[in-house]
Amino acid sequence: MSESNGMVTAYRGRFAPSPTGPLHFGSLVAAVGSYLDARNHRGAWLLRMEDLDRTREIKGAADQILQTLDDFGFTWDGPVMYQSQRTEAYEAALESLIQKGLAYRCGCSRKEIAQIAQMGEEGPIYPGTCRNGQAKTRDSHSIRLLTQHKEIICTDQVQGNICLNPGKELGDFIIRRSDGFHAYQLAVVVDDAWQGINQVVRGADLLMSTPRQCYLQQLLRLPKPHYAHLPLAVDSQGRKLSKQYQDAPVDSRQPIESLLQALAFLGQPSPAEKPVNLSEFWAWAIEHWSLRKIPAQRQIAVSPANQ
Ligand code: GLU
Repeated sequence: MSESNGMVTAYRGRFAPSPTGPLHFGSLVAAVGSYLDARNHRGAWLLRMEDLDRTREIKGAADQILQTLDDFGFTWDGPVMYQSQRTEAYEAALESLIQKGLAYRCGCSRKEIAQIAQMGEEGPIYPGTCRNGQAKTRDSHSIRLLTQHKEIICTDQVQGNICLNPGKELGDFIIRRSDGFHAYQLAVVVDDAWQGINQVVRGADLLMSTPRQCYLQQLLRLPKPHYAHLPLAVDSQGRKLSKQYQDAPVDSRQPIESLLQALAFLGQPSPAEKPVNLSEFWAWAIEHWSLRKIPAQRQIAVSPANQ
């Protein structure tokens, strides 16, 4: 249960993998963290397949991820949602922003932007070149969201407060790409609201996306979930474990070992004896879960055995 405006609402969490390859230790950590937090609160845990960007999708990966989650003993509530089936909802949100004068067409290429933009922590800061309609003469265009020079403060339950001034630090950002795909930032906000998610637990690689999402929630008048960003599993060079770089998938034949490693990674205690089966593992882990024990670190290096 969580409390907002004095009303007690049932906890609704989610796991939202992108089908860009099989689950590796890093994505298992995100699945375990979001699952345990939801179940510890007797909440619902929903699955969303973020298959929006079909250029990055690996054929068969979505089914493989679901199979792995099942092999590891996760149980989810309701049917799996697929972003590839939600284009109309994203388009409606986009239209409403355009109607309100909050989004505009941009015809700049990456190369053009790189030549004029200052570099920010999150990439080039778009200087607003197309704000006044210049893109009309170009065939291909993206849609950008108008940002303001105003600080957005988001509270994160693990990492503390995050402050970001979108106008200054990001510039107007893309909400529909020039190839026609809606951007992750827009889709995730529309879907979190549609699925009634009130608690987002995910990897800290998305920490700086949160102010963008909170800003979009304000503009679209959508409720704002609570956020908790888990430390990201990185290799000894500080590189995120990633499906794209083909880091080793988790081993479905030894689920309890990987799950115990994920628990330890998240600063949780380990059971005195190795659980005999998955249901014993989950019952123990759910009961002993505490968000407060998670290290407030953006990333933690894992040994090659975990990768
Ligand atoms: N689809 C994203 C990923 O696999 C996660 C998005 C989110 O949790 O908001 O990294």
